[in-house]
Amino acid sequence: KAKNIGRGQIVAYTATLSTDYDKRVALEHELQFALDNHELYLEYQPIVDPRSGRAICCEALLRWRHPTLGIIPPDVFIPIAEATGLIVPIGTWVLVTACTEAMTWHSDVKLAVNLSPVQFRRGREIVDLVTRILTTTGLPPRRLDLEITESVLLDDNAATMSLLEDLRSLGVGISLDDFGTGFASLAYLNDFPFSKIKIDRKFTQDIDESPRTLAIIKGISQIARELHIERVAEGIETFAQLERVQSFGINAIQGYVFSRPVAAAVLRELIKQPILPIVGSPSTATHHT
Ligand code: C2E
Ligand code: MG
Ligand code: MG
Ligand code: MG
Repeated sequence: KAKNIGRGQIVAYTATLSTDYDKRVALEHELQFALDNHELYLEYQPIVDPRSGRAICCEALLRWRHPTLGIIPPDVFIPIAEATGLIVPIGTWVLVTACTEAMTWHSDVKLAVNLSPVQFRRGREIVDLVTRILTTTGLPPRRLDLEITESVLLDDNAATMSLLEDLRSLGVGISLDDFGTGFASLAYLNDFPFSKIKIDRKFTQDIDESPRTLAIIKGISQIARELHIERVAEGIETFAQLERVQSFGINAIQGYVFSRPVAAAVLRELIKQPILPIVGSPSTATHHT
């Protein structure tokens, strides 16, 4: 196949690569200053009890308002922050900011914060950090859920297990995020002290078409229920998907059907009332944002 690629195409291909590479190097450099320059901010997305419309929990989601490139999504800059170690100070800022914000909700609604595997590779630091932030912000531990992905578990089971247990004994919840996307096996549900699993959007997306996916979600949900683990379906976008998942033991829904991630001030108002699902196409609905 290679001989069919003309010279111009190779030049264009190389140019794209170097552009992406340059862009990453530039971002890597600029991310160092983003925190001090107040370019990072959080949005919050409610996780809703579909029967009452009440927000049970709200997830803090990090954004970077770059001075020239505009808003950069976390999928782009978190890997850079992890590779450079910047995720450690950034992650601390996220926890402090989100816990402080959650205190202004004046309700029992929980706060979910994502933790990077990098934050778990520093021994007891994460436990001490969470302890300190709960004390300084006054957030009751039962209102905090820490979200981790299975990549945290792959590192070193014995060490990770003891950190997770220490965190649980502070009274905070531990959620297994993006369940179903990687190697996370059912054994993890038994071995680690999770209070919640979040079934990934990749699964919930095609429940309309695929009876197999439907069966898998149903099964996972039933097992989790028997282990007294809460079940959240992520990425529910349509009313049809909402009706589907509600019938099989999912306690809570996070998705555009209820709300996109919104600014802190918008969320504070949003969670005062039951949130109605958006009937029709959520991609055209803008009333929450
Ligand atoms: P996540 O923790 O799985 O967060 C859920 C993601 O799904 C969010 O993307 C959210 O906006 C998106 N989402 C929710 N409902 C829907 C829906 O109905 N449809 C679609 N298409 N998407 C939906 P976001 O905000 O872009 O964040 C992406 C990922 O970045 C997060 O995935 C998380 O892994 C990471 N992340 C975000 N904030 C932080 C943070 O403060 N620290 C760390 N370590 N990671 C973070
Ligand atoms: Mg998450
Ligand atoms: Mg997720
Ligand atoms: Mg994710």
